[in-house]
Amino acid sequence: MGPPGAGKGTQGELLARRLGIPRYSTGDILRQALRDRTPMGLEAQRYMHEGALVPDDLILGIIAEALANEESEAGFLLDGFPRTVGQAEGLNVLLAETGQELDAIVDLSVPDAEIMKRLSTRGRKDDLQETIRRRLQVYEAKQKPLLDWYAKSGVRVVSVLGVGDIDDIQARILEQLAL
Ligand code: ADP
Repeated sequence: MGPPGAGKGTQGELLARRLGIPRYSTGDILRQALRDRTPMGLEAQRYMHEGALVPDDLILGIIAEALANEESEAGFLLDGFPRTVGQAEGLNVLLAETGQELDAIVDLSVPDAEIMKRLSTRGRKDDLQETIRRRLQVYEAKQKPLLDWYAKSGVRVVSVLGVGDIDDIQARILEQLAL
């Protein structure tokens, strides 16, 4: 977890590769659906372009499909999910069905000023100033409280500063996870 532009995708890819497990990024899956112009992609489009959250049931459908993959049996990494308590509760139901548990949550933290700088040079369609601000607000309101929610429910939450060299950040994550 982490705010937009924290580097979740970059770090998640490195970590998943190292662990030999699949990585599921709800943002990537939605953008692909949009490029393919599937009904799901078109439904998600208006939320994404506003920097708002896509409805939980649509997102949980994506995750249910991902966890049903044979490849997910030995573990998986989730990127950009869950983002609401509703999604986290939905994930718990899915995990109970597969008999799996969350090992840890990596919280990548990056100061707001650094995020604005990173996203304004990234050039993705939803990286306009106004949309970035909206996504940061959504992050503060919805995702940040989830970290406490998980900590209270006994899931390990490790916080890592997402500023600096990509390899150094990855090393910090591995160290914190004791991998
Ligand atoms: P970022 O973290 O930089 O905002 P993402 O690729 O994770 O980038 O998400 C981009 C957009 O996709 C979000 O602003 C939101 O509209 C949608 N999205 C992605 N994941 C979720 C999710 N778990 N729940 C709701 N909406 C999501």
